[in-house]
Amino acid sequence: MGNKMTLLKRLRHYVKSFLLWELLLGLKLTGRHLFSSKVTIQYPEESIPRSARFRGLHALRRYPNGEERCIACKLCEAVCPALAITIEAMPREDGSRRTTLYEIDLFKCVYCGFCEEACPVDAIVETGLSEYHFEKRGQNILTKDKLLAIGDKYESQIAVDRKEQWRSED
Ligand code: SF4
Ligand code: SF4
Repeated sequence: MGNKMTLLKRLRHYVKSFLLWELLLGLKLTGRHLFSSKVTIQYPEESIPRSARFRGLHALRRYPNGEERCIACKLCEAVCPALAITIEAMPREDGSRRTTLYEIDLFKCVYCGFCEEACPVDAIVETGLSEYHFEKRGQNILTKDKLLAIGDKYESQIAVDRKEQWRSED
């Protein structure tokens, strides 16, 4: 009985080998995917779908009248788990409190989003920008001027993303 089974197995093996059975199975799988819609994205020519909640490069926002939103409350600095934010502040002549130094060290940042969640005036945000690089030492430090410049440049997209985030949180 045992010999008969072994013989049958061997016979099946030889028939399969002769008919290139495994090759046909592989070609069947290839054929199935050959004409189906493609999922590969030709990055960077094609942009990657991105959620409004994506946490990329930071920005400091202004109000429509040009005044910076940040009131130097330092909540973002306090909540940052990576100690990536450094803030110094002084009252202005008009008595309002504003930062004299606002820096984020991108080498320390873990993109957790705590800073933007803590901010009471929606000043510090994380944009959808993910394509950036550093070429020189020190470029990892985002200064206040750089953060405001990013905010100014991408304000319209930031506003749309923030609305989308709030809607998804409701
Ligand atoms: S995203 Fe997180 S780690 Fe980065 S600066 Fe904000 S709070 Fe700190
Ligand atoms: S960015 Fe927001 S949380 Fe941070 S100091 Fe300014 S107002 Fe406060």
